[in-house]
Amino acid sequence: MPERKNKFLNTQVQDLEIAGVYKDLDANLLNLIRTNKINPKPLMICSGSTSSGCAAKDHWTLDLRYRFKKVEFYPAQNEVLIEAGVDMKTLIEELKDHKRSFPIGISGSTGIGYILTGGISPLSRKYGLAIDQIKELGGYWANGEKFKLKKPLHSSSKDHLVQWKALCGAAPFLAIITHIKLKTHQLKPLGVWETTLEPEQLAETISISEQWPIQASLYWMWGETIKAFGVYEFKENYSEKGFTEIINEVPKSDDFKTSQIEDLTQLNRFNLPIPSDSFNQNKYSEVVGILGPPLRNKSYELVKTIEKLMQNKPNPSCYISAQQLGGATMTEVKNLSSFVHRNSMWKPWITGTWEAGNNEQRKKSLDWIENGWIELEKYFPGVHLAQIHPHLHWHQKEIKAAFKAWLPELQQLKSKFDPEGILLPL
Ligand SMILES: Cc1cc2nc3c(=O)[nH]c(=O)nc-3n(C[C@H](O)[C@H](O)[C@H](O)COP(=O)(O)OP(=O)(O)OC[C@H]3O[C@@H](n4cnc5c(N)ncnc54)[C@H](O)[C@@H]3O)c2cc1C
Repeated sequence: MPERKNKFLNTQVQDLEIAGVYKDLDANLLNLIRTNKINPKPLMICSGSTSSGCAAKDHWTLDLRYRFKKVEFYPAQNEVLIEAGVDMKTLIEELKDHKRSFPIGISGSTGIGYILTGGISPLSRKYGLAIDQIKELGGYWANGEKFKLKKPLHSSSKDHLVQWKALCGAAPFLAIITHIKLKTHQLKPLGVWETTLEPEQLAETISISEQWPIQASLYWMWGETIKAFGVYEFKENYSEKGFTEIINEVPKSDDFKTSQIEDLTQLNRFNLPIPSDSFNQNKYSEVVGILGPPLRNKSYELVKTIEKLMQNKPNPSCYISAQQLGGATMTEVKNLSSFVHRNSMWKPWITGTWEAGNNEQRKKSLDWIENGWIELEKYFPGVHLAQIHPHLHWHQKEIKAAFKAWLPELQQLKSKFDPEGILLPL
């Protein structure tokens, strides 16, 4: 029998009255899927439970964290197989024992939703997106049919190619993924720095960073103040010239500091420029992630636009951030994925926050996100569907902006593999 209570990391989802939770994808649930007896639809899928899309009011959730916990490393290939309930911190801690690593994002608490929706890491400029590391995917299409797909070769069939592309970036609409096999990378030490900046200094930092080598990337966050953070992967040791050159060049203030970390889970040492209670249980939030090409000389103009948006933010916990892409994310020429915005160098995201249960603040924060999105669209026309919002009115807009000309083919696959709408609408 499915259970009614569950622990989700996303605070908003945690407080929803959901129909119940399936803790396994067993014969009973598969039978309900195959006979179209999930009611109401869609069935929500939860891996890391960090997004607002892993459960919905009155809907059932399949929480993969209970049953799908295996991590298995294959030393001969330097590949790792993870089941769908493994979070990113667990993944890289397991890999550390083999002196290997994986380009996780800025938080280790996300689950395989991070990988399936693209996966932008501070190391993506060197290694590519998380989806670019996938060697094999397995699970069930939304019609209940079991599958296992290996990364296509030149000789692979068109069907194989199209299904692979769809699953790498649009899986949440088509299939329940139960395991992924991934390429890993040699574990190397990282240098990080952080500093508070004035708006002009941020514009200058953005402009400089577009010329950085691929082992360096910028991440900035504009909340109550502006903070810039940099991550640099060393070849071997900490005293590398490239790192020194960057930290000598970047604008800084008195709080500038550098440190060395072993892996990306330690990014949580960064001091963020938002009130410390922003992630408390009584705060809810939504996020829209957008994508755009190098800014070149437009970083100053962009910063002015953001400055205006920040003057109107509805509360102190709302913020706008960005991560840097480029390098390997741009040169993945074959692009066997649904991440169509390969020309992107920036992924800003707009986070609107409100007090739990305060509908007026909720509306203001959602309006602020939407307005910010419209203002920033001219620089960042794409969407990174890391957060999927079927519960909000902009769902159609986000889907069109995420997949562009690839959307009709995805919709064709949806009608083949999810004819009854068991999973999220596309
Ligand atoms: C603190 C924090 C930091 C983040 N940093 C980054 C970052 O650096 N880079 C980046 O790219 N993103 C980042 N994100 C965004 C995050 O990667 C996405 O929101 C991602 O979808 C979360 O995955 P999850 O497994 O934790 O979430 P969940 O909420 O469990 O799932 C997210 C979505 O994926 C679908 N899904 C999950 N598992 C499966 C499955 N097995 N099969 C099919 N569909 C599935 C669900 O339907 C759901 O809609 C961050 C998010 C947070 C909260």
